[in-house]
Amino acid sequence: MIYVIYIIVCNRIQPYMTMISISDVLRRIKESSAEEVVAEHLEQIRKSKFNTFITVAEDQSLQRARLIDSEESESNGRLSGVPIAIKDNISTKGIKTTCASHILDGYIPPYDATVVERLYNEGAIVIGKTNMDEFAMGTSTESSYFGPTRNPYNPDCVPGGSSGGSAATVAAGEVAISLGSDTGGSVRCPASFCGVVGLKPTYGAVSRYGLISYANSLEQIGPMASNVQDLALLYSIIAGYDPKDSTSVDVGTGTGAKTGEGTGAGADTNAEVRGLKIGIPAQYFGEGIDPAVEKAVRNGVHDLEDSGATCTEIDMPHTDYALAAYYIIAMSEASSNLARFDGMRYGLRTEDKDVITTFSDVRALGFGEEVKRRIILGTFSLSTGYHDRYYLKALKIRTLVKQDFDSAFKDVDVLITPTMPMPAFKIGELVDPISQYLADVNTVPINLAGVPSVSVPCGSTRGLPIGMQIIGRYFDESRILGVAAAVEAARG
Ligand code: GLN
Repeated sequence: MIYVIYIIVCNRIQPYMTMISISDVLRRIKESSAEEVVAEHLEQIRKSKFNTFITVAEDQSLQRARLIDSEESESNGRLSGVPIAIKDNISTKGIKTTCASHILDGYIPPYDATVVERLYNEGAIVIGKTNMDEFAMGTSTESSYFGPTRNPYNPDCVPGGSSGGSAATVAAGEVAISLGSDTGGSVRCPASFCGVVGLKPTYGAVSRYGLISYANSLEQIGPMASNVQDLALLYSIIAGYDPKDSTSVDVGTGTGAKTGEGTGAGADTNAEVRGLKIGIPAQYFGEGIDPAVEKAVRNGVHDLEDSGATCTEIDMPHTDYALAAYYIIAMSEASSNLARFDGMRYGLRTEDKDVITTFSDVRALGFGEEVKRRIILGTFSLSTGYHDRYYLKALKIRTLVKQDFDSAFKDVDVLITPTMPMPAFKIGELVDPISQYLADVNTVPINLAGVPSVSVPCGSTRGLPIGMQIIGRYFDESRILGVAAAVEAARG
């Protein structure tokens, strides 16, 4: 109750948001109970004006909360009783998982993704499944079958995508933490647009078992939170080797898998920054960057210099080709990954006819326009006669982009860029698909290379947040989270 009053009072001061942290929630659980806190969260979500959730796991979350309350003395999980929102492309046993697509409407997974299992082991409570672009294909959350999510800073604007629901729900103070997935920027873009923090981990650092694939050579599940300390904690819980994901890497302790302890926050952020070598890749500040965005990011870098970091301009010559290469690879993989949605196994089923007719009826009815566009383009670029010209060429560019990062990291410890070239745009403003693809210019090279990167708020313009992207070496999550904590401390 006090918590609800607190939110109402704060909402008067800042009309749309009062973000909460894990420690706020743990404190509330101590004062009352996990069940009461879950009930308060459910109430907030019910009143949401932002269309952040596709499914609210009301019964399951209350049931789990009661269990945690009854086992309280034995439970020492780091998230004991803390509600978390999960993107709707991450499998949750017994809770509907749709990928924001009509084709999966009503699908209930029979198993949990490894990340969800890890969260349950720490006592977390899945409060619901968040809205997203259909099959994670997008930059705005407008392509969801369940309607667009709205940006809590300005409901006329998009929250970014594709993990728009996961970012907006944290920004609106409905939950403290959430999970998204990032194939070409889908954690970092909405983090940037909604003024929260989001991490795209190193490829292989977090298990993708149970993540419904869009483009599997590029994507990672990533945490989102209101502050860097919570982000680091959440990352330390979901990261680590998983034999069920053949791309998962056993990095052992002392590297990315252990991030969260001693980094991110609480730690002496000045110590993280003293002597740090920052690279500023000129290509990421090119044409089309909103001047207010560039200014906020450069101011953030100056703060780091004031704390003892040094800064050099870096040349990453293949950046200009990354966007085209990304879209060819992502669409090619999507065309193959989405072949499994055939109306026979999951979700939507039309009237039974012969196999071929049923297959095409289900797909014609079940997939939205953007998903169909990508399946068609992906199939085209993989087809005989065009494979070498498009797909193979894109793979070669991918290698060159990766080499740009390898050589940059010989000279510097981190790279800093704007996460997005602009603040959140209006719903319906970028209807031409190419203009949305172009907005991903600074996030997709990171997925091509597989390195980690975090988006942290560094300023605002026209009432909308601006995100700074901090990119690190493979499995150097601790360092980029430490630098993000320093930016957070300096920028407020
Ligand atoms: N906007 C990019 C795309 O549409 C990235 C999406 C993502 O990271 N899932 O492919």
